[in-house]
Amino acid sequence: MSVDFAAMSAAHLRDAVAANEVEPGAAVRGSFARSGAVGAGRDGLNAIIWADAARSTREADALAERVNQAQGSRAPHGSGRELLGVPVAVKDNIATLELPTTCGSHILEGYVSPFEATVVSRLRRAGAVVVGKTNMDEFAMGSSTEHSAYGPTHNPLDPTRVPGGSSGGSAAAVAAGVVRIALGSETGGSVRQPAAFCGVVGVKPTYGRVSRYGLVAFASSLDQVGVFGASVDDAALAMEVLAGLDPLDATSADVPVAPYRATAHESVEGLVVGRPKEYFPESLPPRMRERCDRALAALEAQGAVVREVSLPHTDLAIPVYYIVAPAEASSNLARFDGVRYGLRVQGDGLRGMYEATRSAGFGPEVTRRILLGTYVLSAGYYDAYYKKAQEVRGLLAGDFAAVFGSGVDVLFTPTTPTPAFRIGAVSDPYEMYLNDIFTATANLVGVPAMSVPVGRIDGLPVGGQLMAPHFREDVMFRAAYALERALGEEAHR
Ligand code: GLN
Repeated sequence: MSVDFAAMSAAHLRDAVAANEVEPGAAVRGSFARSGAVGAGRDGLNAIIWADAARSTREADALAERVNQAQGSRAPHGSGRELLGVPVAVKDNIATLELPTTCGSHILEGYVSPFEATVVSRLRRAGAVVVGKTNMDEFAMGSSTEHSAYGPTHNPLDPTRVPGGSSGGSAAAVAAGVVRIALGSETGGSVRQPAAFCGVVGVKPTYGRVSRYGLVAFASSLDQVGVFGASVDDAALAMEVLAGLDPLDATSADVPVAPYRATAHESVEGLVVGRPKEYFPESLPPRMRERCDRALAALEAQGAVVREVSLPHTDLAIPVYYIVAPAEASSNLARFDGVRYGLRVQGDGLRGMYEATRSAGFGPEVTRRILLGTYVLSAGYYDAYYKKAQEVRGLLAGDFAAVFGSGVDVLFTPTTPTPAFRIGAVSDPYEMYLNDIFTATANLVGVPAMSVPVGRIDGLPVGGQLMAPHFREDVMFRAAYALERALGEEAHR
C-alpha cells in the first residue's frame, strides 16, 4: 500500500497505523520513495548522509506486533504507540546504533556509536523509525550547512541557496517531505534558523527539558536537542515524547511535561505577547517587518494583547555567545585525539600523532573556534573574556526575568533578519555569526524558543520566533498553534 504520509500529520498517521488502517512499514517505505524522488541523498540535496533502507524497513515491519496490542485504541502517553510507524530523521551529532555518527566531520569518519542517545531511544520506544542521519555544519558550528566534511546541503525550496544551519539537513528533510519530524541540535539557533529558511517549525526546548545524553557536546551550557516539525502539532507531539527527566544527563530537569498537543489548542484570549523593540531595529528589512507585523496582528485578532517591551542587553548576545561557545567547545573537542574515536594520522611520537590527527580531521571553522576558545580561557585572558562574558550573560538573563516578571507571557520576534542566502555568498566568518543575532540569546538565557513560518519574501520562507519563560513550552506551543491557525496559507505566501 502506498500512503501520502507527507500530507498526513504524525498523529494522524500513528492513529491510522494503530487502528490497522495503514501497515506499520508503509510510511517508512513512503519516506524512502520520497527521498529518492526528491534526491534527498548525497548526490542530490545532500540532506541525508547516512541511511540503511533495508534495516529501517525491517524495523518498521516488526512494529506489527505493537499494532496487535493496540486493538485499534488511540495512542496514550507511554503506550509505545505515540509515534507508531512514523519515520524520523536524526542529526548526525546524535548517537544512533548501526548508522554512523560523524558530526559532519572527517575526524569521526566511519564512527559508529556503541550506545544510543536518550532522545533516539525515546523516539524508538514510542514506535518511530529512524530513516537517516542528516547533514550538518561540522560539529554544529555554522549557520548554513555549507561547512560539512560531506559537502553542502541544498535548500529544497531553492537548491542554489543554503538551508540554514547547523541542522540544515534535518530542516531540508522535513521541507522536502521526506519526514514530518526530525531531530536537530541547538547551541545558538541551529534549529530555529534553518527552520525559518526552509519554511518549517523548529523548537529549542528549555535548557534541561530534553536529555543531552548521546548528543555530541559542542558548548555544554548552551546545547539542547531540538525538534523540527512539518507543523506545530508534529513538533508538539515529538516534544511530548522527548521531554522529561533522564538520569543519564545530570543537567536534565525533573519538571512535569505538559500534554503539549492538547494545551496548544487552548485559546490565546488575554495572552500577553511582548514585542521587544531591540529585535525590530531600523536596519530590519521592511518586508521582514511587514511579515512579523502581520503575524502579530493575527495573534491580536484572536484576543492576544501585544505589548512593546525592551530587552536592553540584546546587542551583547553575539559577542558573549562567541566567547562562551568557543571556550566550551575547545574543552569538549579535546576528546578527539586520535586515540579514542575515528581518525588517526601517524606523526612523530604521541604529540605528533595528536597534531597530525587534529590538523587533518578538523575543518577550518572548527579549528578557528578551538583556537579562539583556548585563547579566551588562557591564564592571562580568562578574567577579561570568559569571566566577563559570563557576567554579561547574567545581565541578559536579567532582561528576560524582568520582562516575564512584568506579566508578559511570550515574546515574538523575527527568527532571522533575512531569508536564505545563496550557497557561497557569505565567506566572512563574522558575517556568518550575525545569522544568530536573534536566536543566540535564548540559548544563553536557557529559555524555550521556536520558529514558525510567517510568510515569504521573493518566494523564500521567513520565520517568526516565539520565546517563553523557562519550562513554559506549553504557552509557546499555544501561541505557535494560534499563529499557524490564524495565518493559514498566508504563512507560506
Ligand atoms: N550558528 C551558531 C554557531 O555557529 C549556532 C550553532 C548551533 O546552534 N549549533 O555557533
